[in-house]
Amino acid sequence: MSFRIRKEDRVLVISGKSQDKGKAGKVLRVYPSTDKAIVENINFITQHKRTRDPQKPGGRITREAPVHLSKLMLICPKCNQPTRVGAKVVEDKTRVRVCKKCGADI
Ligand SMILES: [Zn+2]
Repeated sequence: MSFRIRKEDRVLVISGKSQDKGKAGKVLRVYPSTDKAIVENINFITQHKRTRDPQKPGGRITREAPVHLSKLMLICPKCNQPTRVGAKVVEDKTRVRVCKKCGADI
């Protein structure tokens, strides 16, 4: 299912932690092997980092954790609505995504 969401897409969080649900963000990275993606400003986790190197600061760092693709819905750049994605194979055998709401190729 990983073709449905790609880097640079805008996505809506449809389930998950309450603070992220309903938020939209840009996909920064997709991990096809685990069907997860990093979404900008979504699913922040705090890591407590210890370091033995005195040159590097330790302490708490926050970063985005991967979100399962099933919790994300693509926002169509054409009609600007969260949508399911269909697939269409065009003549040169490349697969294009199709918005199920407005029918546009994405
Ligand atoms: Zn659309």
